[in-house]
This record gives sequence, structure tokens and C-alpha cells, in this order.
Amino acid sequence: MNSEEQLREDLFQLVTSLKSYILLEQDSGRKYSSMYLKGEVPSLDATNIEDTDKGGETAFIPSLTLDDVRQELGDCQRCNLCEVRKNLVFGEGNYNADLVFVGEAPGAEEDRQGKPFVGRAGQLLTRIVEAMKLTRKEVYICNILKCRPPENRNPKPEEIRACEPFLIKQLEIINPRVICALGTFAAKTLLKTDAPISRLRGRFHSYQGIKLMPTYHPAYLLRNPGAKKQVWEDVQMIMKELMSNE
Ligand code: SF4
Repeated sequence: MNSEEQLREDLFQLVTSLKSYILLEQDSGRKYSSMYLKGEVPSLDATNIEDTDKGGETAFIPSLTLDDVRQELGDCQRCNLCEVRKNLVFGEGNYNADLVFVGEAPGAEEDRQGKPFVGRAGQLLTRIVEAMKLTRKEVYICNILKCRPPENRNPKPEEIRACEPFLIKQLEIINPRVICALGTFAAKTLLKTDAPISRLRGRFHSYQGIKLMPTYHPAYLLRNPGAKKQVWEDVQMIMKELMSNE
């Protein structure tokens, strides 16, 4: 990628990010303006106010929580998937997680329970997390889309566009040390690339300054157990990174 393409991509990400804040703010009906590129949507609750020194001046940057984002999402009807879902699957786990797993979209079991990664692929993800000497409660798990596409078909671009602002907010609020993108769609969406997962995995990329490791989706592993070796290599790199930051 040359410098002009890089600049264009950076600008695209910035605009996408900014749009998400404006969207959230408009939905909330709050009366302040969207001015914080880092995602701290102002709150009227004074207990949320942080004191930040900005060149001699004191700026007050109130913070947004995951519960606020869930509330903004509400009974979301921003794309057609609202018509076929049983439950919206927001995400679950540690709100201050060092490690966030991002998958593609809920499957049938997730749609039924309203929880991410609870079907067969989810059980495999749980085993991967435990192999990392962690528990599901210590990490955060979510998806690009919050609602199940019919028959588990691939997400459509308009669905990703409608839903991604909420994922962006989730990641900004948690601000983990490492993001693990599970599968092609999560990696492509977060990294804004068309490169296949086979080329993306095995090394860290950067998502908004956060280290991002793409790896194969657990559902792919169920069909291709031979790929477990590569996933374990990716997972070990994540563990090493998390330990180096302690
Ligand atoms: S997939 Fe996302 S944007 Fe579409 S209805 Fe569900 S929550 Fe809303």
C-alpha cells in the first residue's frame, strides 16, 4: 500500500469512527455535540468526569460505558436482520478485558440464548481460552453483527455498515491490549482489507493502535481440525504479548 492509499484508508477509518459517535449521539437525543474522536460521549453524570490536562487547560472528558452502548442499540432495527433474529447478541465478558475476541455473527444457538459463542464453535473457543490459562469471564467476546443472518449466510455489506459503529464503540470503551479477530469477516472488517485470513493470520496488525491478531474461526476448525496448529501458534503469540505487557 502506497502512502496515498494509506492516507485514504486512515481517513476512511476516521470518518467511520466519527460517524459512529454522531449516530450514537443522535439516537440518544442528548443535547451536546459530538466532539470527542476518542469516543467518550458526554454524560450528564458528574461522577463520570475525568480531568485531563490539555496544554495547561483542563478538559472534562466524560466516559461512556458498555451498558450505555447496549442501551443505545436498544431494540435495534437498523438493518433487516432485526426481522429474523430471536435475540440480539451484544457480547459478554470482562468490561476491562485485556483480550477481546471478535467473531462474525451469532449462530442458531447464540440467537436462541442471546449470548455469543455458545454453540459447538463456542465450546471450542472456550477450550482455546482455557488453554490460554484464562476464563471466559476474564476476556470479552462479541461479533461484528449482533443479529443472526438467516441460515448463517455471510454478512452483507449494508448489515456490517449498520452494525459496525456499535462494535467500534465496544472496542474503544474496553480498550484491550489485544484483539483476536476470529475468521475472515472479522479480520477483513476490522482491518479494512480484502486479504484472505490465511495471509493475515500469524502476525499482529494494528487496529486503532491496538494489537490485532487474526486467526481462523472456531467453526472453521470444526471442519478443518488440521488448522488447529496454526491457531495455537497465533494464540501463543497473543499470550506472549499479554505477558509482556504485564
Ligand atoms: S445486525 Fe446490528 S444493525 Fe442489524 S438489526 Fe442487528 S443490531 Fe441492528
